[in-house]
Formats: sequence, structure tokens, C-alpha cells
Amino acid sequence: MLRRVFGYDEFRGEQREIVEHVIGGGDALVLMPTGGGKSLCYQIPALVRDGVGVVISPLIALMQDQVDALRALGVRAGFLNSTQDVDEQRLVQAEFVAGRLDVLYLAPERLRNEATLRLLDRGRVSLFAIDEAHCVAQWGHDFRPDYLMLSQLHERWPDVPRIALTATATEATRQEIATRLDLTAARHFVASFDRPNIQYRIAGKVEPRKQLLELLRGEHKGDAGIVYCLSRASVEKTAGFLTEQGVEALPYHAGLDPRTRAAHQSRFLREDGLVMVATIAFGMGIDKPDVRFVAHLDLPKSVEGYYQETGRAGRDGLPSTAWLAYGLQDVVQQRKMINGSEGDAAHRRRLVAHLDAMLALCETVECRRARLLAYFGQSASESCGNCDTCLAPPETWDGTVAAQKILSTVVRLKRERNQKFGAGQIIDILLGRKTAKVIQFDHDRLSVFGIGTELKEAEWRGVLRQLLAQGLIGVEGEYGTLVLTEGSDEVLRGRRQVPLRRDPVRAKPARAARAD
Ligand code: ADP
Ligand code: ZN
Repeated sequence: MLRRVFGYDEFRGEQREIVEHVIGGGDALVLMPTGGGKSLCYQIPALVRDGVGVVISPLIALMQDQVDALRALGVRAGFLNSTQDVDEQRLVQAEFVAGRLDVLYLAPERLRNEATLRLLDRGRVSLFAIDEAHCVAQWGHDFRPDYLMLSQLHERWPDVPRIALTATATEATRQEIATRLDLTAARHFVASFDRPNIQYRIAGKVEPRKQLLELLRGEHKGDAGIVYCLSRASVEKTAGFLTEQGVEALPYHAGLDPRTRAAHQSRFLREDGLVMVATIAFGMGIDKPDVRFVAHLDLPKSVEGYYQETGRAGRDGLPSTAWLAYGLQDVVQQRKMINGSEGDAAHRRRLVAHLDAMLALCETVECRRARLLAYFGQSASESCGNCDTCLAPPETWDGTVAAQKILSTVVRLKRERNQKFGAGQIIDILLGRKTAKVIQFDHDRLSVFGIGTELKEAEWRGVLRQLLAQGLIGVEGEYGTLVLTEGSDEVLRGRRQVPLRRDPVRAKPARAARAD
């Protein structure tokens, strides 16, 4: 089947074991990185076993493409989702019942519908494949309530084998998938999550769009790539900026009308050297082998998200870059967003834990790859030689005194009731700057005024960012007031040292360099 239908000579990694296991009727939970070849793991069993393989996938926008691709190989494939009219749906349903399909793609929300369940009863299901299985985990980063209904599959059709697949799962997420989908007794296939051809780099954010342009012009001229931004507005701005600079770039976000979105997506897939500037609405399930770089202009909310997004680079195994620009404002903004988020305390705790892990990855002085793999419970060699910290090991320095100076300033500002002071004010005070706002609040009379001239503004921002990242300073409320934490107390009392990463000195922006 592998040769005849798909035209490949050999199975990759654990594909053979997985395929044989499912053909034999076994349940499986498959963790395999993006580009690892998960699809074959259920497509071949669906072709070999009697009946129709039912694939649950949240990627409605891609179902048509997936089905077209299978049909081109001579596989009888169909899908059922909300984009179809009644006649189209009837046709597919009839084919399913008559057993004239090998594979049927189904959107998860379909299972809310008793009619769909009855339909599945009327045909013969050879297996259930649950794609993007991490969507069932609340602990994960991409929870979809409809996925919870997938537990019915096993209850209603206990004899039909199930295979759940995902490209991202920590140990905790994996346990949750197994529990929720009743796959604890299933065989777990866990491939290495390492993507050796991806070079991981996390840079200090100075002038992000310019830095991005440098990356594109310097290392990725004419390459296809994805640039992720947090907001729709910054997607538009960045795409506009790149276009002005002569880089062919297209925007993609949920605020664009579906037709434009589809058009941009298909251009990105079919043309060479296009840059897609997108929110994270873009990318899941996109199979473009030659994406040479993935750039993040804003901090991802979790390591899982980061891993999944960067994983879209270099599916073809050729050298690719994962580049992230990260700065003080990212930390403040994300902490504020969590404070203002809806949901219960447990939900907020999850968000905080996700963010903290992401921050730890950003601030590490160790190999990024090793950190990343450790997060997914996998070990790696100590130094990969293909990430920024391995290529140019960052220095560390004792930031205890600097930290104490910042914290002492925060203590003094706290006494001003109802006033919100952010990072900017604190740094102005430390540097002894008599700005309007400093004078207005008599901050030039504080004992800490001007005690921090040994560091430059950028360095203070770096210290503050790392204190935030380490939880030695907190962010309160939706306005982002800086506050002390339990950790700050220890630092102030001299009970805790604060080793900090020395941020690499970046070439200054052109304007400043000339002024020097
Ligand atoms: P995933 O879903 O894990 O991201 P896919 O199933 O889309 O990965 O496969 C990624 C790419 O690798 C596809 O282009 C696929 O055709 C190809 N591929 C999968 N298995 C093999 C194999 N055994 N030999 C060669 N190419 C393969
Ligand atoms: Zn490394």
C-alpha cells in the first residue's frame, strides 16, 4: 500500500509499527513532530481494514485539500463539515453507508449531532483517527470543547480501533489525552521531538520590524516563511511594512473575510518565496515543505505553541530558522492579559504556568533545544550546536544589586495610592531623569533617584525583564502595575542572589549609530 498508493519506498521512523498495530485492531496514541508523517499512520490502515476510516479533524479549512490530495492518489475520500450544502452532505452520507469510501473526514462538532452518530451506525467504520488530539486537553494550549465528545466513540463502538495523533504534548498533556479519550491502555508511540534542521534563536527586541527585515534580507532572501504577530493590527502593519520594503508578504488573520484568507493561504502554498504574516489562526495542518523560516514578533503564550509554530519550518529537512524577538513589553503585556482574562482561578494558573515556561526558555543561558526537548520530557545532548546559545554562549553576571535597586524603587512607589507606574517610570527614576512625570510626583526627591547610572536604559530594561520572567517582580491588574512578590522579599533582604543573562550587545539602530 505504501508503494502502490503513496509511491514511497520505505516507512519512516515508527510508521511501520504503528500501521501494523492499528491494522491488527489495536488502539494507539501517536506523538510525532510536525512533518513526521502522521497521516500515513491512519491512511494505510484505513485502506487495509474493512470499512471506512473516520478521521476527526478540527481543520475544516483543509479538509477539501486533504480529500483532493487523497483522490489524486486514487483513494476514495470524502468529508462532512459545515461548509457543505445539504445535497453535498447527502451524497457523502450515501457513499459512506454504501461503503464506497476509504476515508471520511469529520469535523468534531458533527458528533454533537445524534444524526451523525446514527449515520456512523449505518455504515461500517474501520477505525477512528483523532487528529490534533491535544485539542482534548484542557491543560494544553489549544483546547476545543467539542473534542470532549470524542470519548463517546469508544463507548458506542468499543470494537473499532482508535488512533489519536498529535505533534505537541508535554507529559501532562499526554496523560490528559490518554485519560479523556480512554487511551491509557493503548500503545503509545512517542517519536523524538527534535527537529535538528531548525536553528532556534531568540533575540532581544529593539526595533522588531527592522530586525525582521535584516533577517529576511541577510539570511532568507527570496525564501518562503511565516511571521507570527499577536494582533490583527500588527499583522496588517507588518505585512504593509514588508511589502513597502520590497518583500512579497500577505496578511492572514481571523478578521479577514474567508475568501481573502483562503486566497492568501493557497497562494502561500502554491507560489515560491512568499512571506505569510499571520496570527496563530494560520498554520495548523499546513503542509508546505519548504518554509525556510518562522519568525515571531511577539512572545508565544506557551512552549507548546512555540514548538508547534516553529515546527512549520523545514519539513523538508533542510536548514531553517526559528527566530523570535522578545523584550520587556512582551512580558508585561502577557502578564496583563492573564490578569484580565476570563475563566476561573485554575484557568489563570494554567496560563501563568504556560507563560513561565516560555519565559524560562527565552531567558535560559543553556541550549535552547535541550530546554525545549526537556519541556516535552525528552533528553538531549547538552549542547546542540545549532541554536543561538550554543553558537554564542551568553555571559551571566551577578544582578543582585541591580535587582535590589529596582525593587527598592517599586517599594517606594507603592506608597502612592491609586497611581500606576510602569517600567518606564522606574527606569527614569533610577537614571535620575527629571521628566515631567517624575517631577509631578516628586520622584526626584526619592532616595533611589539617580542611584542607577551605572547601567544604560536598555540594560535596566533587560534586568527588569528578567526579574519579571523569574517572578521576582510581579504585574498586578489589567494596567500592569509592578508589584513585589515573595521572591522580591528574599532579594531585598539579601537572602537570594540574582544571576542574570547579559543581553548580547546588538548593533544599535542606524540613527543612533550615526549620532555616536
Ligand atoms: P504530519 O502530519 O506528521 O505533520 P504528514 O503526514 O503531513 O506529516 O507528512 C509530512 C510529509 O512527509 C508529507 O509530504 C508526506 O507525504 C511525507 N511522508 C510521510 N511518510 C513518508 C514516507 N514513509 N516516505 C516519504 N515521505 C513521507
Ligand atoms: Zn543548542
